[in-house]
Amino acid sequence: MAAATHLLSHSPSLPKTLNHPLTQNPFSKFPILPLKPSQNVFKRHSLSIKAVLSQNPAKTLTPTFQHCFTKSPDGFLYCEDTKVQDIMEKVEKRPFYLYSKPQITRNVEAYTEALEGLKNSIIGYAIKANNNFKILQHLKKLGCGAVLVSGNELELALRAGFDPTKCIFNGNGKILEDLIIAAQEGVFVNVDSEFDLENIVAAARIAGRKVNVLLRINPDVDPQVHPYVATGNKNSKFGIRNEKLQWFLDAVKAHPNELKLVGAHCHLGSTITKVRELVLSRNLNLIIEPGRSLIANTCCLVNHVTGVKTNGTKNFVVIDGSMAELIRPSLYDAYQHIELVSPAPPDAEVSTFDVVGPVCESADFLGKERKLPTPAKGTGLVVHDAGAYCMSMASTYNLKMRPPEYWVTNC
Ligand SMILES: *Cc1c(COP(=O)(O)O)cnc(C)c1O
Repeated sequence: MAAATHLLSHSPSLPKTLNHPLTQNPFSKFPILPLKPSQNVFKRHSLSIKAVLSQNPAKTLTPTFQHCFTKSPDGFLYCEDTKVQDIMEKVEKRPFYLYSKPQITRNVEAYTEALEGLKNSIIGYAIKANNNFKILQHLKKLGCGAVLVSGNELELALRAGFDPTKCIFNGNGKILEDLIIAAQEGVFVNVDSEFDLENIVAAARIAGRKVNVLLRINPDVDPQVHPYVATGNKNSKFGIRNEKLQWFLDAVKAHPNELKLVGAHCHLGSTITKVRELVLSRNLNLIIEPGRSLIANTCCLVNHVTGVKTNGTKNFVVIDGSMAELIRPSLYDAYQHIELVSPAPPDAEVSTFDVVGPVCESADFLGKERKLPTPAKGTGLVVHDAGAYCMSMASTYNLKMRPPEYWVTNC
Protein backbone atom coordinates (compact mmCIF):
# COMPACT_ATOMS: atom_id res chain seq x y z
CA MET A 1 0.00 0.00 0.00
CA ALA A 2 1.55 3.24 -1.04
CA ALA A 3 1.01 6.17 1.23
CA ALA A 4 0.64 9.48 -0.47
CA THR A 5 0.58 12.96 0.86
CA HIS A 6 -1.81 15.33 -0.79
CA LEU A 7 -2.05 19.02 -0.60
CA LEU A 8 -5.31 19.71 1.17
CA SER A 9 -5.39 23.39 0.66
CA HIS A 10 -3.05 26.19 0.10
CA SER A 11 -2.84 29.71 1.36
CA PRO A 12 -2.73 32.18 -1.41
CA SER A 13 0.80 33.24 -2.02
CA LEU A 14 1.67 36.78 -1.17
CA PRO A 15 0.53 39.17 -3.83
CA LYS A 16 3.42 40.27 -6.02
CA THR A 17 3.23 43.68 -4.49
CA LEU A 18 1.51 44.77 -1.35
CA ASN A 19 0.17 48.03 -2.75
CA HIS A 20 -3.45 46.99 -2.61
CA PRO A 21 -5.98 49.64 -1.79
CA LEU A 22 -6.47 49.45 1.96
CA THR A 23 -10.17 48.87 1.61
CA GLN A 24 -9.49 45.69 -0.25
CA ASN A 25 -8.14 42.91 1.89
CA PRO A 26 -5.39 41.20 -0.07
CA PHE A 27 -6.29 38.05 1.86
CA SER A 28 -9.73 37.17 0.67
CA LYS A 29 -12.53 36.44 3.08
CA PHE A 30 -11.82 32.74 2.66
CA PRO A 31 -8.10 32.69 2.10
CA ILE A 32 -7.87 28.94 2.37
CA LEU A 33 -11.22 27.66 1.39
CA PRO A 34 -13.09 29.95 -0.89
CA LEU A 35 -16.77 29.07 -0.97
CA LYS A 36 -16.31 28.62 -4.67
CA PRO A 37 -13.45 26.19 -4.66
CA SER A 38 -11.29 26.90 -7.65
CA GLN A 39 -9.60 23.96 -9.27
CA ASN A 40 -6.36 25.54 -8.42
CA VAL A 41 -6.93 25.73 -4.70
CA PHE A 42 -8.04 22.15 -4.36
CA LYS A 43 -5.74 20.63 -6.88
CA ARG A 44 -4.25 17.51 -5.45
CA HIS A 45 -0.52 17.38 -5.43
CA SER A 46 0.49 13.82 -5.12
CA LEU A 47 3.86 13.82 -3.50
CA SER A 48 4.30 10.13 -4.17
CA ILE A 49 6.16 9.67 -0.96
CA LYS A 50 7.07 6.04 -0.63
CA ALA A 51 5.65 4.09 2.23
CA VAL A 52 8.10 2.41 4.53
CA LEU A 53 5.99 -0.57 5.39
CA SER A 54 8.62 -2.54 7.19
CA GLN A 55 9.08 0.31 9.60
CA ASN A 56 5.46 1.11 10.15
CA PRO A 57 5.03 1.07 13.91
CA ALA A 58 1.28 1.56 13.72
CA LYS A 59 0.90 -1.98 12.44
CA THR A 60 2.02 -3.36 15.78
CA LEU A 61 -0.62 -1.48 17.78
CA THR A 62 -3.85 -3.15 18.79
CA PRO A 63 -6.50 -2.80 16.12
CA THR A 64 -8.96 -1.20 18.59
CA PHE A 65 -7.05 2.04 18.89
CA GLN A 66 -4.71 3.02 16.17
CA HIS A 67 -3.20 6.45 16.16
CA CYS A 68 -1.75 8.05 13.08
CA PHE A 69 1.36 9.62 14.60
CA THR A 70 3.95 7.22 15.96
CA LYS A 71 7.60 7.44 16.83
CA SER A 72 9.26 4.42 15.34
CA PRO A 73 12.27 2.67 16.88
CA ASP A 74 14.49 4.50 14.36
CA GLY A 75 13.64 7.72 16.21
CA PHE A 76 11.67 9.23 13.33
CA LEU A 77 8.06 10.38 13.56
CA TYR A 78 5.62 8.79 11.12
CA CYS A 79 2.19 9.82 9.96
CA GLU A 80 0.61 6.47 9.15
CA ASP A 81 3.24 4.90 6.88
CA THR A 82 5.00 8.09 5.94
CA LYS A 83 8.04 9.67 7.53
CA VAL A 84 7.23 13.25 8.50
CA GLN A 85 10.82 14.22 7.70
CA ASP A 86 10.34 13.04 4.11
CA ILE A 87 7.23 15.17 3.76
CA MET A 88 9.10 18.21 5.11
CA GLU A 89 11.70 17.75 2.42
CA LYS A 90 9.09 17.60 -0.34
CA VAL A 91 6.96 20.61 0.54
CA GLU A 92 7.79 24.28 0.73
CA LYS A 93 9.77 25.32 3.77
CA ARG A 94 7.27 26.88 6.12
CA PRO A 95 4.95 25.65 8.86
CA PHE A 96 2.22 23.34 7.61
CA TYR A 97 -0.59 21.24 8.97
CA LEU A 98 -0.32 17.52 8.36
CA TYR A 99 -3.44 15.36 8.65
CA SER A 100 -4.11 11.66 8.41
CA LYS A 101 -7.15 10.86 6.32
CA PRO A 102 -7.33 7.28 7.67
CA GLN A 103 -7.40 8.65 11.22
CA ILE A 104 -10.40 10.83 10.36
CA THR A 105 -12.12 7.71 9.03
CA ARG A 106 -11.26 5.72 12.16
CA ASN A 107 -12.60 8.47 14.41
CA VAL A 108 -15.92 8.59 12.56
CA GLU A 109 -16.15 4.80 12.62
CA ALA A 110 -15.72 4.82 16.40
CA TYR A 111 -18.72 7.13 16.73
CA THR A 112 -20.74 5.14 14.21
CA GLU A 113 -20.11 1.98 16.22
CA ALA A 114 -21.07 3.70 19.46
CA LEU A 115 -24.37 4.79 17.92
CA GLU A 116 -25.24 1.39 16.52
CA GLY A 117 -28.86 0.48 17.18
CA LEU A 118 -29.95 4.08 17.60
CA LYS A 119 -31.81 4.60 14.38
CA ASN A 120 -31.96 8.04 12.79
CA SER A 121 -29.10 9.23 14.97
CA ILE A 122 -26.90 11.90 13.46
CA ILE A 123 -23.22 12.59 13.94
CA GLY A 124 -23.30 16.34 13.48
CA TYR A 125 -19.73 17.38 12.91
CA ALA A 126 -19.08 20.88 14.35
CA ILE A 127 -17.58 22.61 11.35
CA LYS A 128 -16.03 25.40 13.38
CA ALA A 129 -13.44 22.91 14.63
CA ASN A 130 -11.98 22.55 11.14
CA ASN A 131 -13.53 23.78 7.92
CA ASN A 132 -11.11 22.41 5.34
CA PHE A 133 -13.23 21.66 2.30
CA LYS A 134 -11.74 18.28 1.52
CA ILE A 135 -12.07 17.21 5.12
CA LEU A 136 -15.70 18.31 5.06
CA GLN A 137 -16.31 16.31 1.89
CA HIS A 138 -14.68 13.28 3.47
CA LEU A 139 -16.76 13.56 6.66
CA LYS A 140 -19.89 13.95 4.57
CA LYS A 141 -18.98 10.85 2.59
CA LEU A 142 -18.63 8.96 5.86
CA GLY A 143 -22.23 9.91 6.70
CA CYS A 144 -21.81 12.84 9.04
CA GLY A 145 -24.17 15.76 9.33
CA ALA A 146 -22.95 19.22 10.21
CA VAL A 147 -23.29 21.65 13.09
CA LEU A 148 -23.03 25.24 11.94
CA VAL A 149 -22.56 28.51 13.73
CA SER A 150 -22.59 31.01 10.88
CA GLY A 151 -24.17 31.56 7.52
CA ASN A 152 -20.85 31.02 5.77
CA GLU A 153 -20.41 27.68 7.52
CA LEU A 154 -23.92 26.82 6.37
CA GLU A 155 -23.07 27.67 2.76
CA LEU A 156 -19.80 25.77 2.93
CA ALA A 157 -21.55 22.70 4.35
CA LEU A 158 -24.10 22.78 1.55
CA ARG A 159 -21.34 23.11 -1.05
CA ALA A 160 -19.53 20.17 0.50
CA GLY A 161 -22.70 18.19 -0.08
CA PHE A 162 -24.02 17.75 3.45
CA ASP A 163 -27.65 16.72 3.63
CA PRO A 164 -29.47 19.83 4.94
CA THR A 165 -31.74 17.62 7.02
CA LYS A 166 -28.64 16.46 8.87
CA CYS A 167 -27.52 20.01 9.60
CA ILE A 168 -28.15 22.07 12.73
CA PHE A 169 -27.72 25.82 12.81
CA ASN A 170 -26.62 26.97 16.24
CA GLY A 171 -25.58 30.14 17.93
CA ASN A 172 -26.55 32.96 20.22
CA GLY A 173 -26.26 35.68 17.58
CA LYS A 174 -27.68 34.23 14.40
CA ILE A 175 -28.57 37.02 12.00
CA LEU A 176 -31.73 37.24 9.93
CA GLU A 177 -29.98 36.86 6.56
CA ASP A 178 -28.40 33.59 7.62
CA LEU A 179 -31.62 32.34 9.20
CA ILE A 180 -33.38 32.91 5.89
CA ILE A 181 -30.89 30.61 4.13
CA ALA A 182 -31.34 28.06 6.92
CA ALA A 183 -35.12 28.23 6.48
CA GLN A 184 -34.86 27.91 2.70
CA GLU A 185 -32.55 24.92 2.94
CA GLY A 186 -34.54 23.15 5.65
CA VAL A 187 -31.82 22.77 8.24
CA PHE A 188 -32.63 22.40 11.93
CA VAL A 189 -32.37 25.66 13.83
CA ASN A 190 -31.74 26.07 17.54
CA VAL A 191 -33.66 28.71 19.44
CA ASP A 192 -31.31 30.53 21.77
CA SER A 193 -33.25 33.54 23.05
CA GLU A 194 -36.40 35.63 22.72
CA PHE A 195 -34.97 37.79 19.95
CA ASP A 196 -33.61 34.71 18.20
CA LEU A 197 -37.10 33.24 18.16
CA GLU A 198 -38.43 36.46 16.67
CA ASN A 199 -35.80 36.32 13.91
CA ILE A 200 -36.51 32.67 13.15
CA VAL A 201 -40.22 33.42 12.78
CA ALA A 202 -39.39 36.32 10.46
CA ALA A 203 -37.01 34.12 8.43
CA ALA A 204 -39.68 31.43 8.08
CA ARG A 205 -42.14 34.00 6.73
CA ILE A 206 -39.63 35.43 4.24
CA ALA A 207 -38.55 31.98 3.07
CA GLY A 208 -42.12 30.74 3.00
CA ARG A 209 -41.08 27.60 4.82
CA LYS A 210 -41.76 26.19 8.24
CA VAL A 211 -38.57 25.83 10.28
CA ASN A 212 -37.79 22.77 12.39
CA VAL A 213 -36.56 24.17 15.68
CA LEU A 214 -34.91 22.81 18.79
CA LEU A 215 -34.81 24.69 22.08
CA ARG A 216 -31.29 25.20 23.28
CA ILE A 217 -31.52 24.49 26.97
CA ASN A 218 -28.87 25.63 29.36
CA PRO A 219 -28.26 22.53 31.48
CA ASP A 220 -26.46 24.55 34.17
CA VAL A 221 -23.63 22.11 34.72
CA ASP A 222 -20.06 22.87 35.53
CA PRO A 223 -17.99 20.87 33.08
CA GLN A 224 -14.74 21.61 34.94
CA VAL A 225 -13.03 22.93 31.87
CA HIS A 226 -11.35 26.20 30.98
CA PRO A 227 -13.92 29.01 31.48
CA TYR A 228 -13.59 30.08 27.83
CA VAL A 229 -14.89 26.72 26.62
CA ALA A 230 -17.54 26.19 29.29
CA THR A 231 -20.87 26.83 27.59
CA GLY A 232 -23.42 25.03 29.72
CA ASN A 233 -23.35 26.84 33.06
CA LYS A 234 -25.57 29.55 34.52
CA ASN A 235 -23.25 32.40 33.56
CA SER A 236 -23.04 31.36 29.92
CA LYS A 237 -24.28 33.52 27.06
CA PHE A 238 -25.72 30.44 25.36
CA GLY A 239 -29.16 28.95 25.65
CA ILE A 240 -32.46 29.40 27.41
CA ARG A 241 -32.89 29.65 31.17
CA ASN A 242 -34.86 26.83 32.76
CA GLU A 243 -37.41 29.23 34.24
CA LYS A 244 -38.19 30.53 30.75
CA LEU A 245 -38.73 27.14 29.15
CA GLN A 246 -42.54 27.21 29.33
CA TRP A 247 -42.57 30.66 27.77
CA PHE A 248 -40.61 29.34 24.79
CA LEU A 249 -42.81 26.27 24.44
CA ASP A 250 -45.85 28.54 24.33
CA ALA A 251 -44.17 30.95 21.91
CA VAL A 252 -43.35 28.13 19.49
CA LYS A 253 -46.93 26.84 19.71
CA ALA A 254 -48.20 30.32 18.96
CA HIS A 255 -46.50 30.19 15.53
CA PRO A 256 -47.75 26.96 13.96
CA ASN A 257 -47.24 28.28 10.43
CA GLU A 258 -43.61 29.24 11.00
CA LEU A 259 -42.18 26.83 13.58
CA LYS A 260 -42.22 23.16 14.34
CA LEU A 261 -40.66 22.06 17.60
CA VAL A 262 -38.67 18.90 16.93
CA GLY A 263 -36.38 18.66 19.91
CA ALA A 264 -34.18 20.03 22.60
CA HIS A 265 -30.53 20.80 22.37
CA CYS A 266 -27.90 21.14 25.02
CA HIS A 267 -24.17 21.50 24.90
CA LEU A 268 -21.99 19.98 27.61
CA GLY A 269 -24.71 17.99 29.28
CA SER A 270 -23.44 15.72 32.00
CA THR A 271 -25.24 12.40 31.76
CA ILE A 272 -23.57 11.11 28.65
CA THR A 273 -23.55 7.50 29.95
CA LYS A 274 -27.35 7.41 30.23
CA VAL A 275 -28.08 8.72 26.76
CA ARG A 276 -28.51 5.36 25.06
CA GLU A 277 -31.22 4.16 27.49
CA LEU A 278 -33.01 7.49 27.33
CA VAL A 279 -33.06 7.55 23.55
CA LEU A 280 -34.23 3.94 23.23
CA SER A 281 -36.89 4.12 25.94
CA ARG A 282 -38.51 7.23 24.53
CA ASN A 283 -37.95 6.44 20.89
CA LEU A 284 -36.01 9.66 20.36
CA ASN A 285 -33.67 10.63 17.56
CA LEU A 286 -30.23 11.45 18.87
CA ILE A 287 -28.01 14.10 17.33
CA ILE A 288 -24.51 14.30 18.71
CA GLU A 289 -22.24 17.20 17.89
CA PRO A 290 -18.60 16.21 18.07
CA GLY A 291 -15.98 18.66 16.89
CA ARG A 292 -12.56 18.14 18.39
CA SER A 293 -13.03 14.47 19.17
CA LEU A 294 -13.40 13.75 15.45
CA ILE A 295 -10.58 15.87 14.17
CA ALA A 296 -8.12 17.08 16.83
CA ASN A 297 -5.92 13.99 16.98
CA THR A 298 -5.72 13.57 13.20
CA CYS A 299 -3.23 16.39 12.69
CA CYS A 300 -0.09 18.10 13.81
CA LEU A 301 1.49 21.43 12.98
CA VAL A 302 4.91 20.80 11.49
CA ASN A 303 7.49 23.52 12.18
CA HIS A 304 11.18 24.11 11.60
CA VAL A 305 13.54 25.10 14.38
CA THR A 306 14.97 28.54 13.65
CA GLY A 307 17.36 28.50 16.58
CA VAL A 308 17.89 27.99 20.28
CA LYS A 309 18.59 30.77 22.79
CA THR A 310 18.65 31.48 26.48
CA ASN A 311 17.89 34.63 28.47
CA GLY A 312 19.97 33.47 31.41
CA THR A 313 17.10 31.88 33.30
CA LYS A 314 15.07 30.32 30.53
CA ASN A 315 15.85 28.37 27.40
CA PHE A 316 13.90 28.90 24.24
CA VAL A 317 13.44 26.89 21.09
CA VAL A 318 12.40 29.41 18.45
CA ILE A 319 10.41 27.92 15.58
CA ASP A 320 8.88 29.30 12.39
CA GLY A 321 5.34 28.47 13.53
CA SER A 322 3.61 30.73 16.04
CA MET A 323 0.40 31.83 17.70
CA ALA A 324 -0.69 33.06 14.28
CA GLU A 325 -0.85 29.50 12.92
CA LEU A 326 -1.91 27.89 16.19
CA ILE A 327 -3.35 30.01 18.98
CA ARG A 328 -4.79 27.50 21.46
CA PRO A 329 -1.83 27.53 23.90
CA SER A 330 -1.89 31.35 23.98
CA LEU A 331 -5.66 31.66 24.06
CA TYR A 332 -6.71 28.82 26.35
CA ASP A 333 -3.45 27.81 27.95
CA ALA A 334 -4.03 24.53 26.09
CA TYR A 335 -1.39 21.83 26.43
CA GLN A 336 -0.42 20.32 23.09
CA HIS A 337 2.32 17.75 23.06
CA ILE A 338 5.51 18.71 21.26
CA GLU A 339 8.23 16.49 19.86
CA LEU A 340 10.99 16.46 17.28
CA VAL A 341 10.44 14.53 14.06
CA SER A 342 13.95 13.11 13.86
CA PRO A 343 16.31 11.41 16.31
CA ALA A 344 18.57 13.78 18.22
CA PRO A 345 22.32 13.31 17.82
CA PRO A 346 23.70 11.30 20.75
CA ASP A 347 25.52 14.35 22.14
CA ALA A 348 22.45 16.61 22.16
CA GLU A 349 21.85 17.94 25.68
CA VAL A 350 18.34 17.43 27.03
CA SER A 351 17.03 20.68 28.55
CA THR A 352 13.79 22.37 29.49
CA PHE A 353 12.60 24.82 26.86
CA ASP A 354 9.77 27.17 26.14
CA VAL A 355 8.84 26.60 22.51
CA VAL A 356 8.09 30.00 21.00
CA GLY A 357 7.38 31.59 17.64
CA PRO A 358 8.67 34.76 15.99
CA VAL A 359 5.55 36.88 16.57
CA CYS A 360 5.98 40.09 18.54
CA GLU A 361 3.91 39.07 21.57
CA SER A 362 5.01 37.52 24.83
CA ALA A 363 1.96 35.29 24.54
CA ASP A 364 3.48 33.76 21.42
CA PHE A 365 4.30 30.30 22.69
CA LEU A 366 3.35 26.79 21.57
CA GLY A 367 4.53 25.05 24.71
CA LYS A 368 6.10 25.89 28.03
CA GLU A 369 8.75 24.02 29.98
CA ARG A 370 9.12 21.13 27.59
CA LYS A 371 11.98 18.68 28.00
CA LEU A 372 13.62 18.25 24.64
CA PRO A 373 17.01 17.33 23.24
CA THR A 374 18.60 20.59 22.08
CA PRO A 375 17.55 20.66 18.43
CA ALA A 376 19.77 21.67 15.56
CA LYS A 377 18.72 24.51 13.23
CA GLY A 378 16.15 23.31 10.72
CA THR A 379 15.03 20.33 12.78
CA GLY A 380 11.36 19.45 12.38
CA LEU A 381 9.25 20.03 15.48
CA VAL A 382 5.59 19.07 15.65
CA VAL A 383 2.77 20.33 17.82
CA HIS A 384 0.27 17.48 18.20
CA ASP A 385 -3.52 17.38 18.39
CA ALA A 386 -3.70 20.31 16.03
CA GLY A 387 -6.70 19.26 13.94
CA ALA A 388 -9.35 21.23 15.83
CA TYR A 389 -9.52 24.95 16.52
CA CYS A 390 -6.04 25.43 15.10
CA MET A 391 -6.23 26.05 11.35
CA SER A 392 -9.77 27.36 11.80
CA MET A 393 -8.43 29.96 14.22
CA ALA A 394 -5.24 30.77 12.30
CA SER A 395 -4.65 34.43 11.56
CA THR A 396 -2.33 36.49 9.42
CA TYR A 397 -1.01 38.48 12.38
CA ASN A 398 2.46 39.92 11.69
CA LEU A 399 1.58 39.24 8.04
CA LYS A 400 2.35 35.59 8.48
CA MET A 401 0.65 33.51 5.83
CA ARG A 402 -1.93 30.97 6.88
CA PRO A 403 -0.23 27.60 6.62
CA PRO A 404 -0.87 25.05 3.88
CA GLU A 405 -2.56 21.80 4.85
CA TYR A 406 -1.58 18.34 3.65
CA TRP A 407 -2.97 14.95 4.35
CA VAL A 408 -1.63 11.45 4.16
CA THR A 409 -4.19 9.30 2.40
CA ASN A 410 -2.76 5.76 2.31
CA CYS A 411 -4.18 5.16 -1.11
C1 LIG B 1 -18.42 24.02 19.20
C2 LIG B 1 -19.67 23.24 19.34
C3 LIG B 1 -19.61 21.85 19.34
C4 LIG B 1 -18.32 21.07 19.24
O1 LIG B 1 -17.54 21.18 20.38
P1 LIG B 1 -16.21 20.30 20.52
O2 LIG B 1 -15.69 20.66 21.85
O3 LIG B 1 -15.31 20.67 19.42
O4 LIG B 1 -16.64 18.87 20.41
C5 LIG B 1 -20.80 21.17 19.45
N1 LIG B 1 -21.98 21.80 19.53
C6 LIG B 1 -22.06 23.16 19.54
C7 LIG B 1 -23.37 23.80 19.62
C8 LIG B 1 -20.91 23.91 19.44
O5 LIG B 1 -20.99 25.25 19.43
